[in-house]
Amino acid sequence: MTNTTMAKLIDGRTVAERVYAGLRRDIAELKARGVTPGLAVILVGDNPASRAYVRSKDKMCHELGLHSVKLELPASITQSELLARVEEFNRDSTIHGILVQSPPPEHIDEAAIVRGLDPRKDVDGFHPENVAKLVLEDASGFVPCTPIGVQRLLLESGIEINGAHVVVLGRSMIVGKPLALLLMQKNKNGNATVTVVHSRSRNLAQITRSADIVVAAIGRAEFLKSDHIRDGAVVIDVGINRVEDAANARGYRLVGDVAFEQVSKKASVITPVPGGVGPMTIAMLMANTLKAARQSLA
Ligand code: NDP
Repeated sequence: MTNTTMAKLIDGRTVAERVYAGLRRDIAELKARGVTPGLAVILVGDNPASRAYVRSKDKMCHELGLHSVKLELPASITQSELLARVEEFNRDSTIHGILVQSPPPEHIDEAAIVRGLDPRKDVDGFHPENVAKLVLEDASGFVPCTPIGVQRLLLESGIEINGAHVVVLGRSMIVGKPLALLLMQKNKNGNATVTVVHSRSRNLAQITRSADIVVAAIGRAEFLKSDHIRDGAVVIDVGINRVEDAANARGYRLVGDVAFEQVSKKASVITPVPGGVGPMTIAMLMANTLKAARQSLA
């Protein structure tokens, strides 16, 4: 029988605020020890979405009283010039976290830039050393912000990950793959049975219907329908997609990878877009920057 009641909504902004309350205490403690955590964000070119992300990261640093450096570089910058700027931040002791906003212009080899970061300052968690630490379950590494934000959102919402069957849609290095690794880790915040599906998966709906928790991260507007889930499943929507909407002043609106209207009638718990996973991603970037600052003292 189909559940006709609406699912409980997880408000990512409220959960992120709880995270910030903890971070504010940690920042005060670090400042008392003479350290102001510092984040450097490098923006190459003028992609409007990237610019908006960088602005919100900078704004959040200011709100929390972190040292924030925003470096805007022209799209014409060469690979070696960009690497040189990264190396400057690697050497700068007032900077604990560095990130190069993705995507860079096409002539830039993004993987090579990531390898150029000091892994101790790689707060996005994309450096091979941090990827290895995630696989090895070494907690000193940095985990990418969106996956760790999804895990925190589940835990803060009282959803049991331990022993649950989690189906992750998407296998990107930014979301799907690190999330799968994180949730299968052998600890009480992990211990999930994880299945990952992607564009080549057969019987996708059959697999997602067997999940206790479904996490959609594929970048396909409203892809996941109510037929994809079982009654009472927990649904986390990572997707951020623009769909045309003439009625909206901006000419578009943001939707997730989940057909919210129908899925929310069948799920027990669901995240909205916007206001679900998004706010957690930036909160986790701040948390990773603090972690980098704390570890720099050790
Ligand atoms: P990518 O495009 O890098 O990866 C998409 C993944 O989804 C791939 O593994 C792809 O499979 C899979 N996929 C695509 N289409 C289908 C399909 N029809 N069925 C099954 N699997 C499919 O995207 P990202 O991981 O970077 O981002 C995913 C979404 O999350 C986007 O909407 C993005 O905007 C959003 N996002 C949100 C963030 C937030 O803070 N809330 C942060 C980061 C991303 P294959 O590997 O076979 O190609």
